[in-house]
Amino acid sequence: MIATDSAPSTAPRAILHEVFGYDAFRGPQEAIVDHVVAGGDALVLMPTGGGKSLCYQIPAIARQRAGHGVTVVVSPLIALMHDQVGALLEAGVEATFLNSTLEASEAWAVEQKLVRSEYTLVYAAPERITTPRFLAQLDALYERGRLSLFAIDEAHCVSQWGHDFRPEYRALALLHERYPGVPRMALTATADALTRADIVQQLQLQDARAFVSSFDRPNIQYRLLEKRDGTQQLLRFIQNEHAGDAGIVYCQSRKKVEALAEALVDAGIPALPYHAGLDKELRQTHQDRFVREEGIVMVATIAFGMGIDKPDVRFVAHVDLPKNIEGYYQETGRAGRDGLPATAWMVYGLQDMVNQRRMIDESPASDEFKAVMRGKLDALLGLAQTSDCRRVRLLAYFGETYGHAPPSIEQLGRAIDTEEGTYRKLRCNNCDNCLHPPEIWDGTDAARKLLSTVYRIQQSSGKHFGSQHLIDIVRGKATEKVEQYGHQSLSTFGLGADYSEVQLRGVLRELIAIGALAVDAGIYNTLELTPVARPILKGERLVELRETATEAPSRSKRPARLAAVAKAPVQLDSEALLRYAALKAWRAEVAKEHNLPAYVIFHDATLAAIAERFPQTLDELQGISGLGAKKLEAYGAQVLRVVTNT
Ligand code: ADP
Ligand code: ZN
Repeated sequence: MIATDSAPSTAPRAILHEVFGYDAFRGPQEAIVDHVVAGGDALVLMPTGGGKSLCYQIPAIARQRAGHGVTVVVSPLIALMHDQVGALLEAGVEATFLNSTLEASEAWAVEQKLVRSEYTLVYAAPERITTPRFLAQLDALYERGRLSLFAIDEAHCVSQWGHDFRPEYRALALLHERYPGVPRMALTATADALTRADIVQQLQLQDARAFVSSFDRPNIQYRLLEKRDGTQQLLRFIQNEHAGDAGIVYCQSRKKVEALAEALVDAGIPALPYHAGLDKELRQTHQDRFVREEGIVMVATIAFGMGIDKPDVRFVAHVDLPKNIEGYYQETGRAGRDGLPATAWMVYGLQDMVNQRRMIDESPASDEFKAVMRGKLDALLGLAQTSDCRRVRLLAYFGETYGHAPPSIEQLGRAIDTEEGTYRKLRCNNCDNCLHPPEIWDGTDAARKLLSTVYRIQQSSGKHFGSQHLIDIVRGKATEKVEQYGHQSLSTFGLGADYSEVQLRGVLRELIAIGALAVDAGIYNTLELTPVARPILKGERLVELRETATEAPSRSKRPARLAAVAKAPVQLDSEALLRYAALKAWRAEVAKEHNLPAYVIFHDATLAAIAERFPQTLDELQGISGLGAKKLEAYGAQVLRVVTNT
């Protein structure tokens, strides 16, 4: 880039290129930026990793350059403001944050600069924004026409229907009343219709233009398989496909988090536990290590993850069934924000389904609420059991047809019925079912044998039994329990001896998923018939299911010589790989010196591109994605030295 003395450009594309070093906007980014630069209000719905930050950062820069002053970013996560601001400073953008981690004297210095409108962006927590002191500063800016824009990040926090309700967000409605004419934008990854309506109403964004992106995350490969020996499956998955990668493993309970983290460490995988039961400091330390170090696997409950914008999380694994598709989508969405290949991997079993059902039944919630929760769980089970494309199902749940334009704001979050034939034909080619279409087998006969066993037991004794016992009867296994209850004399005893235990388990899963069997809320997880079972028993309804896949179709393994440190996001020859490793080592030092995560200095993809191009001069460094003007100036010479000396 040639330095000139002329005023910096206010054109969004020029800023994208100059400041962030990117070639092109993604999806609706450009339309959003143009709308906000021109002073419009916006509601931005974009999946995690979609690139929401640039949607307010570029207008902030453009408007500051045009003399409109400071953009205020409302963000709920104090812990992450430091890294976000750090990334902007690295790119040469004047940014700061105001939150409780600052000493009084530091905060005072920031405030002085703020009222002089010397910042482009100020990040602040919602509770800070509504203090009289901060409002007085905003008043002063407003009076001089130097209050440029409000960006409300994670806007779903305003809604009590969302999963992260923050009452302080409610007070943000006052921004509109107090500072009319200052454009406002609300950004969220939550597609849920109720939450969205709440955002509009609470923040008074009725006149804002809504921008909806596709919720597809094409680089994430979805794989859901049957749980056998969960921990061993997870170990094999990580060792075979993601050795050395950063990842998140989600579990249901704190106890399991601890046990699994230990098992991973024993297997030589650098893993850390995270759950709400750990003390706050330890949690923070683990989170920092996950974000700052490379290749850490976080084993966590769902308490972990909101606002983690680490771009190079290569896998998200679920070893327990999530509660619903919203949760599954949000958690898996933390993988691959950098757009490089990532895996969303889940194992689930009959027991998980039974447990989730039981948790709903036993919860103290109203019947109405329970019915909603059951419906949501059923949709998730449908996704798990389907033999069709996972992505097509997942997107349809949010109202989007795969391969078509994103839904309108009204359609978004309204599930489409995927039983329709056309949906069965759509394919993404990046999920387990597309890559390795499962065999479908007709489980109707097995299902009838299982159901009539339940029926006969219910008739004769009024008692209910769990899945293992039913399978034993149908397979003709005279266990102690079978003999104790005289169940070897049932007419279905041994009628299904030809079926394997795995097959029958699969059939039971399907019967629970479609609601033909209900789980009793008692302590024994027993199964009972529902009216849905009748047409199956009568032979009027087929039960078709996928052949159970237990082992992940492994992706092409990388050659062993690619040690974790040199694992590159693109194919590199051995020389380039050495340069890549050297660049990573250099980056780690710079990051440490600046007290920032490595990706804030450069993304992996940027380092890989440099290693591949093997530049000899500063000129040859130009145009590499992620290398903006400021970074070229600050690091160009060092980068050249690293690659030419390797
Ligand atoms: P979100 O907040 O929507 O989850 P981010 O704003 O963190 O997503 O962006 C995700 C990643 O994509 C970041 O690493 C960002 O640098 C990158 N990114 C965003 N927009 C672009 C673009 N137009 N070109 C290249 N990379 C981009
Ligand atoms: Zn698919």
